[in-house]
Amino acid sequence: MEHREHTKCLIVGSGPAGYTAAIYASRANLAPVLYAGLQMGGQLTTTTEVENFPGYPHGVDGNQLMVDLREQAERFGASIRDGEIVKANLGVRPYVVTTERGVEIETDTLIIATGASAKYLGLADEKKYNGQGVSACATCDGFFYRKKTVAVVGGGDTACEEAMYLAGLAKQVYLVVRKPFLRASEVMQKRVRETPNIKILFEHNAVGLFGENGVEGVHLVKRMGESDEERYDLPIDGFFLAIGHQPNSDVFRPWLEVDEVGYIKTVPGTPRTTIEGVFAAGDVADPHYRQAVTAAGSGCQAALEADRYLQRAGLK
Ligand code: NDP
Repeated sequence: MEHREHTKCLIVGSGPAGYTAAIYASRANLAPVLYAGLQMGGQLTTTTEVENFPGYPHGVDGNQLMVDLREQAERFGASIRDGEIVKANLGVRPYVVTTERGVEIETDTLIIATGASAKYLGLADEKKYNGQGVSACATCDGFFYRKKTVAVVGGGDTACEEAMYLAGLAKQVYLVVRKPFLRASEVMQKRVRETPNIKILFEHNAVGLFGENGVEGVHLVKRMGESDEERYDLPIDGFFLAIGHQPNSDVFRPWLEVDEVGYIKTVPGTPRTTIEGVFAAGDVADPHYRQAVTAAGSGCQAALEADRYLQRAGLK
């Protein structure tokens, strides 16, 4: 081990939830330590313009927003560090977490704000056209496809919601579904079917993208692997993935209650987990809203809860 240190409040994750928790915790004199994780700034750094974060009437660059949040947290004394938490022991007090470099940190309170990662199909073209027509967030990027043609991949509730959202902006939405049916709830299915500019392509797989300047189309395979398999190209301007999110909760799962997907369970309306002094904020505990502003709100709640817990426990 390199060394061991102690803190009153450790925050894991550097998205809107983590940074907002750091702003509140540092202003409450908790001298928080924040580990940023593999993707400093979180999911918003993979989008371009953020137009729905309150306070920015003309939008804000996703990266800039995260830089600003970080600066705001540092201004009040949060110690923000590169590095990932790879191990946790929440069975002792203070809790002990370990970084990938082997640094052990004892902490009286822990705020888990590790977010979730959108799942991708794993196509090389998804990386090639990242930010140039490929997106995993319709509410973030949909606006850029006004009156254009887009494809949404997936057949669950998220895909249907994204398709509905995009249908309000785009000229035409194709929903690319690998099975002959949708998995989404009945009500969502009905809405999608009744929306005139959504066309569902059942039994279709997207296998590649093409285009000179960004995405201009998708290579599709109908009834892949069957004797009547059919391959064709569909012109589109935007390609949206909606095949699910994976909450980044692996490190903490042995200790905390999670749902069947891995989202950390909290006491409804609060960031409290099943362990006192351990809080979960933002997308890692939110399968429903997954917005920057809701994540920031729950980060605030987590820091307020951590402060109250420390006071109650006589640790402040
Ligand atoms: P789901 O896991 O429900 O659906 C994922 C969809 O993506 C499925 O249609 C699946 O196909 C498809 N898919 C997965 N991998 C691939 C792949 N490699 N290629 C092609 N298609 C693929 O995820 P969601 O994000 O939609 O929903 C997660 C949970 O959140 C659900 O419980 C959902 O009900 C809930 N939710 C609720 C909402 C609401 O109530 N308003 C809104 C959004 C989500 P297949 O069916 O073939 O496996």
